[in-house]
Amino acid sequence: MGTPVTLISGDGIGPSISSATVRVLEAAGAQIDWDVQYAGQAGVAKHGDPIPDATLDSIKRTRLALKGPLETPVGEGFRSINVALRKTFDLYANVRPAHTIVQGGRYEDIDLVLVRENTEGLYVGIEHYIKMGSDPRAAAESVAIITRAGSERIVRYAFDYACKHGRKKVTLVHKANILKFSQGLFLDVGRQIAQEYDGIEFDEVIVDAMAMNLVLKPQRYDVIVTTNLFGDILSDLISGLVGGLGLAPGANIGLGGAIFEAVHGTAPDIAGKGIANPSALILAACMMLEYMTDGERARRIRDALESTIRERKTVTRDLGGSASTDQFTDAIIARL
Ligand code: NAD
Repeated sequence: MGTPVTLISGDGIGPSISSATVRVLEAAGAQIDWDVQYAGQAGVAKHGDPIPDATLDSIKRTRLALKGPLETPVGEGFRSINVALRKTFDLYANVRPAHTIVQGGRYEDIDLVLVRENTEGLYVGIEHYIKMGSDPRAAAESVAIITRAGSERIVRYAFDYACKHGRKKVTLVHKANILKFSQGLFLDVGRQIAQEYDGIEFDEVIVDAMAMNLVLKPQRYDVIVTTNLFGDILSDLISGLVGGLGLAPGANIGLGGAIFEAVHGTAPDIAGKGIANPSALILAACMMLEYMTDGERARRIRDALESTIRERKTVTRDLGGSASTDQFTDAIIARL
């Protein structure tokens, strides 16, 4: 019997990159019992809801999901899919690695992991307009909530991740020089927790300086931990350092479960053409295998994927080749 995992194929290019990923995992011998569920437009078509209860119930049972990109329907009455998933499963850690696969680009030898706090900060949704005189929207106020408990668990997650993955340094990114209370609390907690981890170097950088440093000398960093808004922005920045979204996986991890996904969206411009690059979802599946303590299989898949990309013979168009999704997937499988 394999490990039960909820599979949400997603919309647009989702079904094609999901089936490629499932084929690679099967070829590598991963023992997984997929529980196929629907969300996004596929959820609306099947159950009239972009995040159907059946899908949430499945993840509650399996506590593990691999998710293709989803199209959130525009319009009132639909719940935001990501917010619903984060809230239901308290997915507090968003983990985004960025690692150079093909040398010779603008940057070489990048190997970073960004750990973003996923539930607090400016994204708690406490916002309102303030009426002044006859203008009902004369001002707007958004509240950032940072808690000691929330900061402790995300900073600890970053240090534990560093220990588990043989990494040497954790950099905490903040803006405590200006936001003395909220960011100050995050920084204070980070400094305290850092003392518990003797073998891991700790440093702290102000977010604006970090934006510059990541462009000038990204090799200086290893694991980065930061609050929600800064993490949202810097995680896209680091995907750009290693060739963009086609190769960027992400994990959302919490006490209630973990959801692994590609960072990119449904790519409506190429959907149905059979040319999407499945790499980001395959790399997300590798993160899932590591989470399932099947790190050796993850390493084998990653090696096969990376050597296929480096050879540049059978790669998809976004990587400079002309292979279809299926041909690229077959080439990876042949190397396993
Ligand atoms: P997108 O990431 O779908 O596409 C941006 C560009 O990158 C497009 O030109 C696309 O063709 C290309 N691209 C993306 N993934 C690719 C792949 N695997 N292989 C080859 N090319 C790829 O971003 P978008 O166009 O802004 O968003 C489209 C839809 O996706 C929207 O409905 C959005 O809400 C949704 N979305 C979902 C998620 C998610 O579910 N995690 C994330 C981002 C966007």
